Amino acid sequence: MTSAASTALPVYISSLTKDYGAFRAVDDVSLDIAAGEFLTLLGPSGSGKTTLLMMLAGFARPSAGSVRLGEQEVIHLPPHKRNIGMVFQNYALFPHMTVGENIAYPLKLRSIGKAEREARVHRVLDLVQLAGYQDRRITELSGGQRQRIALARAIVFEPRILLMDEPLSALDKQLREAMQIEIRRLHDRLGTTTISVTHDQREALTMSDRIAVFSRGKLAQVATPPELYERPASRFIADFIGESSFIPVKKTSSGLAYGDQPLRLAEAFDAASGDPVLMLRPERLDIVAPGEVARDNCTNVFCGLAKSVVFQGESLLVEVGLDQGDVVLVRQSNRTREATKRLAAGDRVDLVLHQADARIVSAEG
Ligand code: ATP
Repeated sequence: MTSAASTALPVYISSLTKDYGAFRAVDDVSLDIAAGEFLTLLGPSGSGKTTLLMMLAGFARPSAGSVRLGEQEVIHLPPHKRNIGMVFQNYALFPHMTVGENIAYPLKLRSIGKAEREARVHRVLDLVQLAGYQDRRITELSGGQRQRIALARAIVFEPRILLMDEPLSALDKQLREAMQIEIRRLHDRLGTTTISVTHDQREALTMSDRIAVFSRGKLAQVATPPELYERPASRFIADFIGESSFIPVKKTSSGLAYGDQPLRLAEAFDAASGDPVLMLRPERLDIVAPGEVARDNCTNVFCGLAKSVVFQGESLLVEVGLDQGDVVLVRQSNRTREATKRLAAGDRVDLVLHQADARIVSAEG
């Protein structure tokens, strides 16, 4: 297998729309994907991810818009002329063929000779760490092995683009996590432009260079995993990526406040962009004894009562009822066993939020 980095293509999606009768499944999506990038389409069920992928593959015809692979407009090309590798949930392996025959199939379709087919099958089996499996039957493979063979079949003809739709959803958690790392490693070696669909935010965070979050057919935000986590564009994104609690804040003459407490924020909030709420990531709140930490110019302190303390192994999840009536979640690391042992439901606590972690998001969107 040669590296695809030199042949990888950028993908330009422009104003792409898909209507099913009166229902708009994909709504005016524009997105540029760099050559060699790993981009994940993430969003709740029904948000339009698969429909977009199907339009890229050529299985669904757009109602409007354009898709270019490099310089070439492909909207009118049938799937087999797009030279795209695909790993789809419903794009199963052929059970009556051996592993080697499955992988060689796309090469046969392209009239590649037997010797070259065999050489490529060996190389790609090596790559997915299943060297020597070419004569096995598909039914003799585990779920993870089948998924790797599906991947091998998708990359063996050195496609310009690789599309994957929930490639790991049938696997159990442990195998899924191992495969996420493996697919990413393979991507780094091959350099193929890859677009993957998932509704699993952890999978998206683990594998992607950038994540495109969908909501009701529209693109809600496109960003790198850390950007998306640290600076979500809206409450919807903050809620979808990672855990969060939200508390309402009010506008005052000097900024934003929670109750009568002025907030020290990481960044000024543009008051014009909808109702603001304060996003609280559970791991960014510190629990201290009442009065232990003083409010100052770079610290926010909220007073409350621990409602429940749940041991979850690597961390403790604490539900805190703030005096203003809002309930927030706090995750305390179990690194400092002594500190976590002392906390119990019913304790009065203060929550400390550093200015750098105090982010306002718009309640809308
Ligand atoms: P999931 O994570 O559940 O697979 P998704 O984000 O991939 O969801 P799509 O499969 O793209 O969502 O579907 C988007 C919307 O379009 C859904 O409301 C779906 O019901 C609708 N839809 C998809 N295919 C068709 C079709 N052939 N006819 C009518 N509506 C469709």
